[in-house]
Amino acid sequence: MKNKYVYLFGKGKAEGRAEMKLLLGGKGANLAEMTNIGLPVPPGFTITTEVCAYYYKGKKSYPRVLESQVIKALRSVERYIGKKFGDSHDPLLVSVRSGAPSSMPGMMDTILNLGLNDQTVLGLIQRTKNPRFAYDSYRRFIQMYGDVVLGLKPEKVDDIDPFEAIIQERKKRKGIADDTDLDTEDLKDLVRLFKDAIKAKRGKAFPEDPMAQLWGAIGAVFGSWMNERAIAYRKLYNIPESIGTAVNVQSMVFGNMGNDSSTGVMFTRDPSTGDNEFYGEYLMNAQGEDVVAGIRTPLPISHLKKESPKIYSQLLRIRSVLERHYRDMQDCEFTIQNGKLYMLQTRSGKRTGFAAFKIAMDMVEAKVISEHEAIMRIEPDAMNQLLRPIFDVEQKHQAITDGRLLAKGLNAGPGAACGRVVFSATDAELQKKRGEKVILVRIETSPEDIKGMDASEGILTARGGMTSHAALVARQMGKVCVAGCEALKIDYVRRQMTVHGQTVSAGDWLSIDGSTGEVIAGKVSTKPSEIVQVLLEKTLKPSDSSIYQQYTKLMSWADKYRRMKIRTNADQPDQCLTANAFGAEGIGLCRTEHMFFGGDRIDAVREMILAHDVEGRRKALKKLLPMQRSDFVGIFKEMNGKPVTIRTLDPPLHEFLPHTEKEIQDLSAKIGVPSETIHQRVQSLKEFNPMLGHRGCRLGIVYPEITEMQAQAIFEAVCEVKRLGITVLPEVMIPLVGYVTELRHQDNLVRSIARLVMEREGMKFEYQVGTMIELPRAAMTADEIAGVAEFFSYGTNDLTQTSAGLSRDDAARFLESYFELKILDQDPFATIDRAGVGTLMKIGVEKGRKRRKNLKVGVCGEHGGDPSSVEFCHSIGLDYVSCSPFRVPIARLAAARSGLADVLTAKRSRRPAGKTRNGVRSRK
Ligand code: PEP
Ligand code: MG
Repeated sequence: MKNKYVYLFGKGKAEGRAEMKLLLGGKGANLAEMTNIGLPVPPGFTITTEVCAYYYKGKKSYPRVLESQVIKALRSVERYIGKKFGDSHDPLLVSVRSGAPSSMPGMMDTILNLGLNDQTVLGLIQRTKNPRFAYDSYRRFIQMYGDVVLGLKPEKVDDIDPFEAIIQERKKRKGIADDTDLDTEDLKDLVRLFKDAIKAKRGKAFPEDPMAQLWGAIGAVFGSWMNERAIAYRKLYNIPESIGTAVNVQSMVFGNMGNDSSTGVMFTRDPSTGDNEFYGEYLMNAQGEDVVAGIRTPLPISHLKKESPKIYSQLLRIRSVLERHYRDMQDCEFTIQNGKLYMLQTRSGKRTGFAAFKIAMDMVEAKVISEHEAIMRIEPDAMNQLLRPIFDVEQKHQAITDGRLLAKGLNAGPGAACGRVVFSATDAELQKKRGEKVILVRIETSPEDIKGMDASEGILTARGGMTSHAALVARQMGKVCVAGCEALKIDYVRRQMTVHGQTVSAGDWLSIDGSTGEVIAGKVSTKPSEIVQVLLEKTLKPSDSSIYQQYTKLMSWADKYRRMKIRTNADQPDQCLTANAFGAEGIGLCRTEHMFFGGDRIDAVREMILAHDVEGRRKALKKLLPMQRSDFVGIFKEMNGKPVTIRTLDPPLHEFLPHTEKEIQDLSAKIGVPSETIHQRVQSLKEFNPMLGHRGCRLGIVYPEITEMQAQAIFEAVCEVKRLGITVLPEVMIPLVGYVTELRHQDNLVRSIARLVMEREGMKFEYQVGTMIELPRAAMTADEIAGVAEFFSYGTNDLTQTSAGLSRDDAARFLESYFELKILDQDPFATIDRAGVGTLMKIGVEKGRKRRKNLKVGVCGEHGGDPSSVEFCHSIGLDYVSCSPFRVPIARLAAARSGLADVLTAKRSRRPAGKTRNGVRSRK
């Protein structure tokens, strides 16, 4: 229906469905779906996200027909449950909650118990015969409404909540410690005092009219789409602002109606480890917000088995219905009101990368999902968590024996983290900027803390369960987290915490184990993950690690679907070894300058730079030749027949020279050149803008003997390794080419050396000469360049720098402001800027291949290990990406997802996708 803005659910039937997430938000769509599949859902209705868009397009107004649609739906809800909104005998009370198409836990506002006023509260008493409960619900409602709709909040970070202050004052006066000790009269008084506070601060009275309350709450929920923390969250997770939120109005059920009532959260599997275990927690006699806010530490769901076996088995049934229906791990909220179960929400559960991996792999084994689905469900970045370090067992054991185990909390986010303690999110951000590793310690976290959480190595909280804000958000961010560590007594003012008599201050080292919940004073060093232990350290047998086995299975599936090859950036044999273990198919970038720093090589390099003439340079380069050659021999052997791209010298020469007086004196003594000469040379090599100065191929053009030496070292190493019966596929890569004439000059040089070496060594070998494309001019003239180059490799670090005019060394200083001002939404040095750099890359590929049909093209900038950039590289037809060794598994999976997406699209459109493997066109 056109202009339908409200969707009803209740009594086993709903107007919405799970697929309508964009319109109804995740919560609304799933409430509808659960209603349709017969689960016990309290009736209600959803106001669509289109209204949110309308609200922000107009001046915070609604479509004209909305009011009548809301009233109509409200009347239906009244009919379904036999209560009337605003009725003074048996009032219908509702909750008003946000629900965006993408889950944003805790970022927007919620109001419960709406519909209470001085009259209806009497009706609630009449029906429940429980005045204390009625007044407690009433004061909670005013408190939430006052905060969310009327804006009575703490004004400064250290201020106490104005309503909390009133409660504290009352408890102090009565000499009681807990809210539960407040009696009916106290709660009645609180209602009055809260209303007075509202009147005093806002100058107008709390609205008694339930309809006015409802529209106030709806407006506040739409308004919360633009609150600071929701904006920050969207930025962090790339959620577009345009999708908006829906508003769910639902009849209230109460988990705080006595000891046969409770409220809880359940996960159909463990969200932290991915284990196939029913998982959840609940709080007796409490409202849902108490669980999510993490204010009280809940009981594990297994307790319910003893306390209420019937409800427990009903939940178990629902667990399997939901998993079967949604074919994914679900995260649900439920409430038990006077012994009757109600489902209030279900959604795909947030999980650690580790759990995402395990759940998907287990579900394939159980034939619930396919191999394709598993690949698509596991975010490539999850591989990071699989390869995450754990504590060194010996050291941890020693720390515990030494009495450094301070406490134990809940193991909310796996992995091992060690850092200096900070007690505020702001400090976490500041210290991170200074390069410190920090552990954020909070009594509990709130959505305001997300930026600080993101800046921390790990998060430790004193309160809250596995489903508290800290636990949920940390898991999603892939952070180590220990939650609900009740033994901690945290003093924000003194920036200290005491634990069983020991004091830890801000700046002290702390280690937390998010897999066991242990909190340890001081530093404990970390150890590699099981996969690393199997693959690299060989300290664990493959058969002893089920995670390793699942990892290899996933990687083998990924390799079936990916079209692009995955190479690595490595300049040392040990890096090659690591990368090979993770599945690298070659080296995409060997930065030869990294080899110039080892041992006493730097002296020879400096001698070469300081030489007055060609002869002097050649003499110094002669010393470097055997060293470079033996490096290449080591690399070729390790790569054992896989292609190896070696780049000739790239950075400006002055980077190798000594800078301090002492370094200059030392060098002078070592190579017998007067310090004055060294000073002069350092001065003469200084450039105003070295990144655009005498670097890259410009060095090898002005000093051809450098390229000659490097080519000789490469080709002699090729011969040496070939003689051992090992295949070698060398690719010599010329950096920072802007003009084809530059490349031709270097190409001629390299080829002449190759001929010389072949002649002298009496053997033939294959090799290629290609170039990096890292200047806009190179991309724009790629057709000319491809006339010489046998391959291209995009240097997206420099291409980003040179195309956007952003200094890669200085941009970080102002990029932060750019993100805040929304001038940029992501770091172009981390993720390819598709519109800018991406367009240049596309032009380069097209022009290059027009000239040389089978031109091999890859990428070797940092973007080669970034999932979104890998996807882009696939889409423009690159042959390979090259990334650092530990990112190889990420790139393998990211490339597989792109390949698989093509296969699935082709299948859907029933178009034959070409003759190649898996239906994807292959270049190589
Ligand atoms: C690049 O510019 O992307 C690149 C790989 O080269 P470097 O980072 O060494 O300048
Ligand atoms: Mg570069």
